[in-house]
Amino acid sequence: MNEIRHDWTKEEILEVYNKPLMELLYEASTIHRKYHDPNTVQVSTLISIKTGGCSEDCGYCPQAARYHTNVEGNDLMTVNQVKAQALRAKDGGSSRVCMGAAWRNVKDGPEFDQVLEMVRTINKLDMEVCCTLGMVTENQAKRLAEAGLYAYNHNIDTSEDYYDDVISTRSFDDRINTIENVRKTNVTVCSGGIIGMGESLEDRAGMLETLTRFSPHPESVPINALVAVEGTPLEEQPPVNIFEMVRMVATARIVLPDSQVRLSAGRTQMSREGQAMCFFAGANSIFAGDKLLTTPNPDINEDMKMFEDLGLNTQKPFFKHEQRESIEAENSQYQSLGEKPKWTRPDHKIERNEQKKKEAKEVRA
Ligand code: SF4
Repeated sequence: MNEIRHDWTKEEILEVYNKPLMELLYEASTIHRKYHDPNTVQVSTLISIKTGGCSEDCGYCPQAARYHTNVEGNDLMTVNQVKAQALRAKDGGSSRVCMGAAWRNVKDGPEFDQVLEMVRTINKLDMEVCCTLGMVTENQAKRLAEAGLYAYNHNIDTSEDYYDDVISTRSFDDRINTIENVRKTNVTVCSGGIIGMGESLEDRAGMLETLTRFSPHPESVPINALVAVEGTPLEEQPPVNIFEMVRMVATARIVLPDSQVRLSAGRTQMSREGQAMCFFAGANSIFAGDKLLTTPNPDINEDMKMFEDLGLNTQKPFFKHEQRESIEAENSQYQSLGEKPKWTRPDHKIERNEQKKKEAKEVRA
């Protein structure tokens, strides 16, 4: 069970997930050693370049305008503000900066041009630069690639079967299409999901099954544990049990052996011992910084202390793929097409999301 496969079935994945834990850990750890250095962890810093006010209804997200949460929105940051944060992240040991904007999709225009300039700027700092900006067209993906983007994050979130219980404003296929648009460039793909949203074990296996269908597999796979935020439709979800997280990480490691499996949201709910078990199970990347977009995250100094105690090293940038060339805007081959793509809006509503929207409206009134 060592080769890279694209034909995993949900049943096979479930069988892996449900193995006795010690056996699962041994198998995952063995595969981890075959494909990766088990003593090296890649560190990414997530910067929220545009926060809140999003038109989508992702049931887990405090940035959706329709829910009443404590998130304070802000306009798109300036290039200099982002550069300053990226430099701080580099000093702290991060090899990658991921810029997140609370957008449904990228829109051609001055804001996207500004993001392209941020990509060029961070690439020049010799850091891997990643964006998570919502849905992108092929031309937009090409423009990001030309600017020197290293990775694009677009999570599938959960299984195709459970997806409609969490998000109604864009379809699962829209997600897949965006990932395919990114794949038409040399930008690497970062795609994973969230556990703890009320999904079944079959859904967790289904999510991993979809990720294994991509060829090549996504280079990075974030595994998030839901941070249940007050005011969102999933606010009452109990925290994810650490052994479930460990099982999910180990299963991801086994079915996606060459990908970097990233511990993402939910690390503040895990002990250091729990995180160490995740690293043993095959996690080899974390998000650093005291906030993950809007939810809390461990302090970078705490993370570095944990690495020291565990004898883990941080991965240098461009360890797996070379630095991308960055073309200046005036020499760009791909221009704005002023696209207004018709991403789908399936016409169903999620009752609990509608209820939260109603409550938020009443509070605002
Ligand atoms: S997850 Fe992204 S797309 Fe969904 S509501 Fe939050 S910011 Fe918007």
